Amino acid sequence: PEKEVSILSLTDITQLENQKSSLEEKASIDELTKVYNRTKFQQLFKQTIEENKINPKSICLVIFDIDHFKKINDTYGHNTGDDVLVNISRFIKGQIRMSDILCRWGGEEFTLLLVGSNIDDGVKICEKIRLLVEKHPFLEGRPVTVSMGITQYIQTDTLESFVARADNALYRAKRSGRNRT
Ligand code: GH3
Ligand code: MG
Ligand code: MG
Repeated sequence: PEKEVSILSLTDITQLENQKSSLEEKASIDELTKVYNRTKFQQLFKQTIEENKINPKSICLVIFDIDHFKKINDTYGHNTGDDVLVNISRFIKGQIRMSDILCRWGGEEFTLLLVGSNIDDGVKICEKIRLLVEKHPFLEGRPVTVSMGITQYIQTDTLESFVARADNALYRAKRSGRNRT
């Protein structure tokens, strides 16, 4: 009480910070494929639309789905099916721009947000990816193919209406024989 004393307390928060970023990663990354999960995609979509109000760009949404994936699991086993999901995610991530957003939407279905691409560019990107996937040896003895639906964002879209249109296009691709955009 007679002396003026300063007390300095230090706490090492490295562990807390590591825990925090590991939790953040768990909440936004799909555990198997390491691409974004659906929750993170929804957040990034909202963010992209907000940014787009200031600096408008064309945006396309692609939904793609591996063809006859059930058959792949049945023929090669579930673990090989998992490997296909991991490898196709990595492969496609290597084909897109930094600004494009890839997400595992669920199961063997993925979404891809193409920022700065109109529908004509978007279709070209889809076709490029689709053909590269078809040629890539993901499995021995049979090609892995994807069907893709794509649509361009319009001002009045919500995420739901945007996704519904892309999904409808995917359904048409499946119905017309698969392995197409
Ligand atoms: P389509 O061409 O119409 O898309 O046929 P499909 O067989 O790909 O589609 P379907 O919906 O009939 O089957 C999807 C399969 O994907 C069934 C499910 O067991 C499998 N699947 C979903 N998630 C995973 C996963 O994480 N790992 C593995 N190995 N399989 C999965
Ligand atoms: Mg499928
Ligand atoms: Mg599916």
